[in-house]
Amino acid sequence: MRRWAVFVLTAAAAATLAAADKPSGTLDSALAALAADRITSIEYNGVGKWYQVGQEASPTLPPPEFDVSSYTATIDYVAAAKRVQMASRQTVDPNRLRFPPREARADEYVAGDAAWIVGRPGGPATGLPVTNVPDAKNVEERAMEIWATPQGFLRAAAANHATSTPTTDGGTEVTFMAGKHKFVGKINAQNEVQKIHTWISNPVLGDMLCEAAFTGYRDFGGVMFPSRIVRTAGGRLRLDLTISSVKANPAVHIVVPDGMRAAMSAPVKATADKLADGVYWIKGGQWHSVAIDQADHIVVVDAPIDEARSLAVIAKVKETIPNKPIKYVINTHAHFDHAGGLRTYVGEGATIVTLPMNQAFYERAWREPRTLNPDRLTQSGKTPKFEPVLNGKAVLSDGRRAIEIHEQVGTAHNDAIVMVYLPKEKILIQVDAWNTEAVTAPYLDTIGGDFVNPYMVNLYENILRLKLDVAQIVPLHGPRTATVAELRKALLLE
Ligand SMILES: [Zn+2]
Repeated sequence: MRRWAVFVLTAAAAATLAAADKPSGTLDSALAALAADRITSIEYNGVGKWYQVGQEASPTLPPPEFDVSSYTATIDYVAAAKRVQMASRQTVDPNRLRFPPREARADEYVAGDAAWIVGRPGGPATGLPVTNVPDAKNVEERAMEIWATPQGFLRAAAANHATSTPTTDGGTEVTFMAGKHKFVGKINAQNEVQKIHTWISNPVLGDMLCEAAFTGYRDFGGVMFPSRIVRTAGGRLRLDLTISSVKANPAVHIVVPDGMRAAMSAPVKATADKLADGVYWIKGGQWHSVAIDQADHIVVVDAPIDEARSLAVIAKVKETIPNKPIKYVINTHAHFDHAGGLRTYVGEGATIVTLPMNQAFYERAWREPRTLNPDRLTQSGKTPKFEPVLNGKAVLSDGRRAIEIHEQVGTAHNDAIVMVYLPKEKILIQVDAWNTEAVTAPYLDTIGGDFVNPYMVNLYENILRLKLDVAQIVPLHGPRTATVAELRKALLLE
């Protein structure tokens, strides 16, 4: 009878007994209470909110919010591997007219130093076949999240010579280094991991503080786990999950796909397409720039992604337009995928042309430390120089060619965004308004009828407002240039 009783003891009950003979509120007692030493893998499910950090509608607004209808994280602590499956839909903001949000299904992986997603290369709208897509820029965040779970934190603390400092409320602050990353966690007097913070590198924010808060611990079928997890990144909300179920020690089989590591470390490619004399479309994957050959210098429009992308673009620009310095880089807006490469140009000596709101954001963000991944600007010690776009317009001219920078007014996409117009060449460079691919089809299939994308309507309104004579619309995302007649057709005006 007694043997049977011991046999059916749940992991949580056994852990409580094991924790009882250790001083409470310590790393040892928490390890026992949360059964962290015996939990080599975990799966948790929940619903809540997810936030698209880096896509804020302005640098002073919170990130776009998504309703998460299902979330499953599966973690193998021994292999340092994690999979997240999430179904979400952007929350409709009645003050910002966007295309109606569709449900997005994410399937994301990390294993050691490899990260990938299972999805369509370039996003769902491309219609390309679903495959394993390398996702190098998210390795650090996903790997961090493995150890920023209660059991993961305790296991990593035990394995990495953590130091413990008692807190005044009967708990302990536990600190350790995992590789170059410092983790700090708070264990409370109830042997619960209450909070964890660490830093990961971000091209815009530098050493970015990431915090996790765990509340409402309870016994989920034999394992003690929080019923709510709230994560932040760079001071912004990232994830807010209410946990519905937890499985201890599920079978996990996450394997890095063949060729993934090679694909992740493949050099960044940039190509140059001539748009007009002295005007080149520098394309790379889903993010492009434009290089303009002025009398004694070069102007580059947009510096997407990160330093690796910028170095590839700068090399292609210098090969295409030899022996001239890049004097200006025009920043379209502060979304991280369009701002992450800016600092490399500053390191090259370029002045950033942007709207004042974005300038203020960069000046603030770039004061933060960059110890995890010091870039060329950090190493150069240079001070960023800005030329603000005041009163909605700036002009860069070498006496032969004018480059007009216009504020794009009234788009729900971003409150501080510019487009670039070359009057002589009749070229309009725009971003995130019209990607020129799959014109209305992706939206028609769920909306039906005469739906048009409000971002494209706004682009057309701005062309009319500014009375621009446009022969070529050049997108900074998208496969091809287009004409205003094509834009009108897409808007069902022709
Ligand atoms: Zn954007």
